[in-house]
Amino acid sequence: MNTEITEQVKKLLASPQKIVVVGHKNPDGDAIGSCLGLSFFLNRLGHKADVIMPNDFPEFLKWLPGCDDIIIHDKDTDKSIETINNANLIFTLDFNALNRAGNMEQFLEDCDAKFVMIDHHQEPDDYAIITYSDVSMSSTCEMVYHFIDAMDELGALCLEVSTHLYTGIMTDTGSFRFPSTTAKTHRVIAHLIEVGANNSQIHENIYDVNSPDRMKLLGVALNNLNIMPEYNTAYITLSQKELDKHNFKKGDTEGFVNYALSIKGVKFAIIFIENKQDNIIKMSLRSKGDFSVNTLAREHYNGGGHTNAAGGRSTLSLSKTISEFISILPKYKNDLTDAS
Ligand code: 5GP
Ligand code: MN
Repeated sequence: MNTEITEQVKKLLASPQKIVVVGHKNPDGDAIGSCLGLSFFLNRLGHKADVIMPNDFPEFLKWLPGCDDIIIHDKDTDKSIETINNANLIFTLDFNALNRAGNMEQFLEDCDAKFVMIDHHQEPDDYAIITYSDVSMSSTCEMVYHFIDAMDELGALCLEVSTHLYTGIMTDTGSFRFPSTTAKTHRVIAHLIEVGANNSQIHENIYDVNSPDRMKLLGVALNNLNIMPEYNTAYITLSQKELDKHNFKKGDTEGFVNYALSIKGVKFAIIFIENKQDNIIKMSLRSKGDFSVNTLAREHYNGGGHTNAAGGRSTLSLSKTISEFISILPKYKNDLTDAS
């Protein structure tokens, strides 16, 4: 975080503030970890910080310290609106455009609070008076650590905050394996462990909590895997019927797309998940190397994200979405089959 931003933040936080910390719709480990970590830190500094998420988050994150106090906008809308309207400062974390806040978007746009953005996604919008954006960062959790450091407050790190931040860095880096994981990331992680984060327990809490239903759904997903060697591409589909048969719960399909990307030679993987309730097909896109799934998701799926991990949606049926997907691949053939 540069000195100009640091000075602006210090000024904003010079007296106790009523703060709301918001993550993106369908929050993941990085969104929940960064929002909880920042809110604990701000409360320790004497502010009043509440965390609001647009909608519910997966079961495998529901052990994180303080997660029971998170206000879920879609479930507790009145409380969420009241808290937003009472705030004078809103931190938006792990997203780059207000439409990523789902049904909260309008209330955020209409409120009088000032905004601070902390985020590592490409092409941030400019709704905030302070934008701390760094696309080279592994995770928003790593940025929250640097934010605390810039405030000269690393001494305020505690067991809870180190647990929050460790969790988000771990989930957003695929357990420290993606190219965004740097020596600096490992130094941050080392410090978080020193401060109290129990690394092996956190891994167990996140990754060793599979239900038999989820494992069977993974079997269905792998069975539905399609490989298109001519495009170095693989895709997976899951219909609403298949999800229902295995009692799908939020978070159950997290990471499935990575199995498609793990096939030798595959540079681009995508999973299409039918959601009859919202009448959409939600997709998760992943790539290796220079192929930008952020660009593809923006161009075709009303989405975005990072170069190697993005999301989006289609309003066509599952089968039409797949045929459309196959029809757009030739446009990307050169990028997908380059020697890089
Ligand atoms: P996932 O596939 O795990 O849901 O998301 C991968 C990355 O893309 C995350 O950084 C996530 O924030 C971003 N992302 C997922 N869905 C969307 C979307 O609909 N729009 C945008 N702009 N980003 C998304
Ligand atoms: Mn993130």
